[in-house]
This record gives sequence, structure tokens and C-alpha cells, in this order.
Amino acid sequence: MTATNLPLTQAIQQQKAFFATGQTRDVGYRKEMLQRLANAIVQEQDSINQALAADFHKPAFETYATETAIVLSEIKFVLKYLDKWAKPRKVKSSFLNFPSKDYIYSEPYGVSLVIGAWNYPFQLTLSPLIGSMAAGGCTILKPSELTSATSQLITELIEKHFPPEYITVAQGGPEVSQELLELPFDKIFFTGSTAVGKLVTQAAARQLIPVTLELGGKSPCLVDETANLQVAAQRIVWGKFLNAGQTCVAPDYVLVQESVKDQLLGQLQKTILQFYTDTPQQSPDYARIINNRHFERLQKLIQQSTIYFGGQTDAQQRYIAPTLLTDVTWEQPVMQEEIFGPLLPVLTFKTLPEALHQINQREKPLALYFFSKNTAAHEMVLAQTSSGGACINDTLSHLANPHLPFGGVGTSGQGNYHGKASFEAFSHQKSVLKKPFWPEVNLRYPPYQDKVHWMKKAFDWL
Ligand code: NAD
Repeated sequence: MTATNLPLTQAIQQQKAFFATGQTRDVGYRKEMLQRLANAIVQEQDSINQALAADFHKPAFETYATETAIVLSEIKFVLKYLDKWAKPRKVKSSFLNFPSKDYIYSEPYGVSLVIGAWNYPFQLTLSPLIGSMAAGGCTILKPSELTSATSQLITELIEKHFPPEYITVAQGGPEVSQELLELPFDKIFFTGSTAVGKLVTQAAARQLIPVTLELGGKSPCLVDETANLQVAAQRIVWGKFLNAGQTCVAPDYVLVQESVKDQLLGQLQKTILQFYTDTPQQSPDYARIINNRHFERLQKLIQQSTIYFGGQTDAQQRYIAPTLLTDVTWEQPVMQEEIFGPLLPVLTFKTLPEALHQINQREKPLALYFFSKNTAAHEMVLAQTSSGGACINDTLSHLANPHLPFGGVGTSGQGNYHGKASFEAFSHQKSVLKKPFWPEVNLRYPPYQDKVHWMKKAFDWL
């Protein structure tokens, strides 16, 4: 059922019928609706903060910086460029087709399904929606069931401001996702775990529906001995403990050059104290773990590791202190899965090629971070590793630039979004060739006789 109590099969039919009217393809309509979404978000800012605080004690500053501001700036960016993106783009013509004019038309796929994850529940549901709206399509949103207050808020916001034949919300867990995945969508955009991403891909393949997969993985953070360790520690601690480590692109683990390991650990500890004090549980700036299952999973990982700093937990509040782990080996449980919590294992390497070898033996990560003053080493790391995105001397920030497409590679995802990439994720690029009736060049028509000679000459010319 959707929020308006419509069975899902009817909801998609209603959207297909509305899409067929052509109204959503009108660029003026798209822009009006995007502006309406922006206005609604601005109006609901306080309720958004409250919903995220209720779901997992998310600090209001983080809600603004990592949820609403990102969505609002994405809308602003799209509104600035949409006229340009939506226009047919003229490309060079081939001499073989003379005379012709050739274009790429962006046409909306149609009715899209957006399945969201819980860790940035507002942004991860609404950012893909912006892409679908910009492309000129209709959308059914399925936010995460784990952040019930935010999912309810998204539902109310959408129902209040948009007709259900254009955008609607289906709340619920895996069973609702699975029901939706049986429907004839024109596009599926999924954010979540690699394991569920595979199930989504299988379901989409049965109907040959195009998919974008925004998945996870273990994103490494390399620090060599030339790095400014104080600055590196600040940027790593920020990227790791924001949202209590429940960020898809959080540095999962640190690989530090052996010669500066102790210094870096000292700086990391100092920074944690600076950011969250010696009682992070009292800090208004530190989030909680989303549910008991994840809390217990993380607690077990701590118990199986050597704690350098932190390690305190409180089950009642689902609180886990910012924690640094040392003496970590690749075989330990904490290195076998995406951590997705505030535990930072610190491993060491002697030489950069050895560190890259360790990284390349594992699945391709969603992000890779490298702290170093050595610019030649920057290029070496970028050339010799594969990851969805990367930052040199920073963490996370690449995802906040709408000029940079965001996405994974291999098991960390397929396809991109943000900025123009979001528009493209929901658009088919249609190749169009236009010919006048005159002149008519007969070279390609039978009887071929000695035309092969002229055809060869034409190809030689290209
Ligand atoms: P998840 O895969 O458990 O759930 C994601 C969505 O899929 C939810 O809406 C859920 O209801 C649905 N779902 C769950 N099981 C399903 C099933 N069996 N069949 C169909 N649908 C199902 O992921 P999560 O716990 O919400 O999010 C955490 C994961 O998402 C992490 O791996 C993280 O790295 C990744 N993530 C990736 C990005 C990105 O942009 N690449 C962003 C955020 C999170």
C-alpha cells in the first residue's frame, strides 16, 4: 500500500497513466515541482531535525549539513542547469550519412522506484528523487523502515505537496521492497548493502529494468610518513565519527606507515577528545547506533579486538564511544565486513606498494582516502587502485560537489548520481539522426556493382 492506501499495483498504473499524458516531461513543470520540493523542505526544516533526532540522536548541525543542505543545494544546481541538460544536444555528423544532422535526446525512463537506506534517510531518498523529477519522470519512494520517524516525515511531506500520480511513498521493510520489485518499473535506483543490491539486481534482470546501485564496502584510508598528521587526524576523525560512523563513505580502516603509527594514534585520540570531550555520551554532537542488531554486532567486533582508545558502550542508549583499535590483522572479524559504526582499526604498512597490494586484494571500495605530501605518490595511488571515488588529504568531501558524479565500482555499486549524473541516471540517451529529402546519395543502395570501391574510399577518408 502507498501512503494514500492505494495497492502498489494501482499506484504504478496511476503513475504510468500520468506519465503518458506528457505533463512531467514539460521542463517548466519539472522546474516548478523541484522548486515546490525545495520550499517544502525549507518549511519543514524543524520537523526534519526532530525526526532524525528521534531516529538516532542525529545532531541538528549534522542533519542540516549532511541531509537538508545537500538536498537543497542539489535542487538549486539542477534548476540552474536543467534547461541546458534537457535540450537535444547536437553532435558531429558522420560523412557516411551525408547529408544529416545528429543529436542526443534525453528522454525520461518513465516511472522509477527509489529504495533508500537508513543512514542518511532524508538525503538518500530525496537526492535520487531530484534526479527522477529533473529527468521528467514519476517516482515511487520506498524509504528505510529502520528510521520510522524520518520515513513518516517524508511520506507526509510528499503527500502534502505532490499528487500521488506524480510522486508517492510506500513505507515498509523488505517485504514491501520485494512486492515493488515485481512491478514493471522503468528504472530502479537502490541505495543499501551489497547483499541486498544483488537481490535487487536479480529482480530487475527478470524484467530487464535498468538499475543504479549505490552500495557499500570497506573504504581504506592511507596515511604515509610525509602527511601532516595533526590535520590528517582531524579530517579522519570527522569523516569516521560523523553519524557515529554510519556513513557509506566513512574511512572504514586506517593503513598508516609504520614509522608514524604511534604519532598518528596519538593525534587521533587527541582529536576525538577535542571534538567529543572525554564523555562523548554527553556530547550533543554525537549520534547513536540505529538499532539493537547493529549495536550488538558492533559490540561483538569490539570484544574481538584490541582497544587503543574508547570502547565504552551503553546498550540502553545504543551508544558506542568513538573507538580506536590496534594490533589489527586482516583475518580479524572487524576486517571481514563493512564496519558501519564508530570503530576505527589502525593497521600499518612499510612501503606504499605493499599497502596498495593489501587494498587490491580486496573488493573495490566505495571511496579511498590518501594523506600524503608526496604528489607523485598521489598519482601512483590513484592509478594503481580502483574505487568509486577518492580524496587526497581529505575524507567524504568529494560527495558534496555536484560537479562530481558519485557512485561505486564493482561490489560498491554501479552507475552514478549527484548533479548532472542524477539527471542522466533517470534518462535514456536517445540517438537521433535527421535527414532532409534532398540530396539523395545512392552509394549505399543495390545494385552495388563497383560501389565497394567508392565505399572504401569514403571509409579511408574518415
Ligand atoms: P539494506 O540493504 O539493509 O537496506 C536498504 C533498503 O533495502 C531498505 O529500504 C530496506 O527496506 C530494503 N531491503 C532490505 N532487505 C531487503 C530485501 N531482502 N529485499 C528487498 N529490499 C530489501 O541497507 P541499510 O542497512 O539500509 O544501509 C546500509 C548499507 O547501505 C551499507 O552497506 C552502506 O554502505 C550502504 N549505503 C550506501 C550508500 C551509497 O551512496 N553508496 C549510501 C548509504 C548507505
